[in-house]
Amino acid sequence: MSQGLERLGWDGFFEEQLTHKDRKRGQPGRIIEAFRKRFLVHTGERVVWALARGAMFHRASSRTQLPAVGDFCVIEFANPQDPDSARLWRLLERRTQLVRQAAGEQTKPQVIAANIDTIFVVTSLNQDFNTRRLERYLALVEESGARGVVVLNKSDLCEDRAPFLARVDELAPGMPVVVTSMKDHSGVEALRAHSEPGQTVALIGSSGVGKSTLINELAGDQVQATGATRQGDGKGRHTTTTRQLVVMPDDSLLIDTPGMRELGLWQVDSSALQAFADVEAAGVACKFRDCLHEGEAGCAVQE
Ligand code: GDP
Ligand code: ZN
Repeated sequence: MSQGLERLGWDGFFEEQLTHKDRKRGQPGRIIEAFRKRFLVHTGERVVWALARGAMFHRASSRTQLPAVGDFCVIEFANPQDPDSARLWRLLERRTQLVRQAAGEQTKPQVIAANIDTIFVVTSLNQDFNTRRLERYLALVEESGARGVVVLNKSDLCEDRAPFLARVDELAPGMPVVVTSMKDHSGVEALRAHSEPGQTVALIGSSGVGKSTLINELAGDQVQATGATRQGDGKGRHTTTTRQLVVMPDDSLLIDTPGMRELGLWQVDSSALQAFADVEAAGVACKFRDCLHEGEAGCAVQE
């Protein structure tokens, strides 16, 4: 398999799943951006838009079987000369999956991201620290199959961190804990020690605890958008959205999807999800009929 794909987290677990037919007619790749039926897929050499074949949706018995950012998949080209003719043929079995569970009747379980190795559960060492919320996030990590690391951010605002550390140890005995302050730029190296080249990490946690700041700190200004290498497609479908899966300067991979951000909202207030549903029901005039209003081109909601 191409070294490019290994750089994106491909390994023997996925390689073994490729059938003779997959190898002959298709090509493996990783989903770096997901919309409802269209997916940006990185093959290790290039990035293409792939449309999921209909059967993938008809046969799915649960929304968790639908493609998500981080999924490894097999794509096929209807016309080998045309990069825009790619079809998402099938998904490979996931190693881990971060699932948002049903919160009330409006929402069904949904995969936020697939194949994450390490999840940083971020909270802050001030009045935002909330034991119940932290418990919920830790439960999500536990279910996902990924490794968890608790990040206690904003240590500059905290005089005595001992009681916080004690509580985390009660909730997640043995889980690594990293204390950081983005104001002092401290703890970043300790954080980096928990990610390795080719490994996929993600940050979850409530709004305001410092996730974006942490990501910027980890990424520096060198963050390399995995999709940035995409060749012009000549069809004006160029996208300017931030990639949902990016290669970090240390060659680890970071997943940061709108769903991840929403996860924080949902933990606090499920009415936020209702607001999303209302927007959908309004049937707004987005360019793509299956628009998820997550930064896609021509999205009326975003505008
Ligand atoms: P997010 O919602 O989790 O992505 O949080 P942000 O990264 O947007 O941070 C929320 C606010 O907290 C911003 O004003 C940041 O500048 C601030 N912030 C982030 N990290 C720290 C920190 O370690 N110490 C202090 N004092 N403020 C921080
Ligand atoms: Zn839209």
